[in-house]
Amino acid sequence: MKTFWMNGAIVDEEDAKVSVLDHGLLYGDGIFEGIRVLDGRVVDLELHLQRLATAAKAIHLQLPALDYLRRAVLETTGALGVMDSYVRLLVTRGKGALGIDVASCGEPMVCCIAGDLKIYSASGEGIRLATVSLRRPAFDVLDPRVKSLNYLNNVMAKMEAKRHGADEALVLNSRGTIAEASVANVFARVDGVVMTPPTSDGALGGLSRRRALKLLTARGYETREASLTRFDLLGASEVFLTGTGAGVVPVGWLDGERLGQEREVSSLLASLVHDYAEEHGTPVPGLTALASGPVPAVAARATG
Ligand code: PMP
Repeated sequence: MKTFWMNGAIVDEEDAKVSVLDHGLLYGDGIFEGIRVLDGRVVDLELHLQRLATAAKAIHLQLPALDYLRRAVLETTGALGVMDSYVRLLVTRGKGALGIDVASCGEPMVCCIAGDLKIYSASGEGIRLATVSLRRPAFDVLDPRVKSLNYLNNVMAKMEAKRHGADEALVLNSRGTIAEASVANVFARVDGVVMTPPTSDGALGGLSRRRALKLLTARGYETREASLTRFDLLGASEVFLTGTGAGVVPVGWLDGERLGQEREVSSLLASLVHDYAEEHGTPVPGLTALASGPVPAVAARATG
């Protein structure tokens, strides 16, 4: 079951259509967010809107008002009517001429889809990573922090990993240090320190990554953003991925080698998601009412 919101209103799937002249389709010219609803609350909604707003500036796209985008997310998830869902909010450059010049494009196209997403099949053993040959472009090519509609680098990385019999790709940058996985950030606990590559190594500034660093630091863990190599992962006591779609996912193997089997940090993070959503989630009108009585007002917290 999915619900669709296009340019201001909930529509049926048959009507959730984009022009073949939309530059999002023609050139991958647009940006998106993947957002989680947990226990009837949109997790980190304002941070997602801020990340989208920054990406819009990076590609010189005039974003509609954040209030409009906030409404898109809350109405789409409210219409879905389930307490836990995955939401895709996307904004394209809009319909234009066949040429690449954005001057021909009219209004940006906004659409939002609420449904479900499961990226890896659960296994207590952890998932299998394969180092892929395809490198992550440097930030002077296209800053990987822009969550753009051009995900070919990620799609191809995932395809290559699956060809090697793995579940997910380990993507390196042109220096050979780790950027991230195809759709998730990488963490490794080395000598007790929980480390993740800096975004300047080609990682998206993942919100689950941000949350993990924050929650762990608050609980006294030593955390660090540091360049990591495959060697670091092979020697780590625990390796895991984080992402909105992925969740917190233990990694069991890298290129066929068994990795450290501790699960202390990843289990802790997984156990904190509901409390975090309670504290940092924006209630979806109508949904939280199902669980706890009166309909809450739409949260009008800090805007990005
Ligand atoms: N890296 C990439 C390339 C991604 O697509 C995602 C998913 N949005 C992530 C990392 C994780 O980011 P987040 O925690 O914000 O979902």
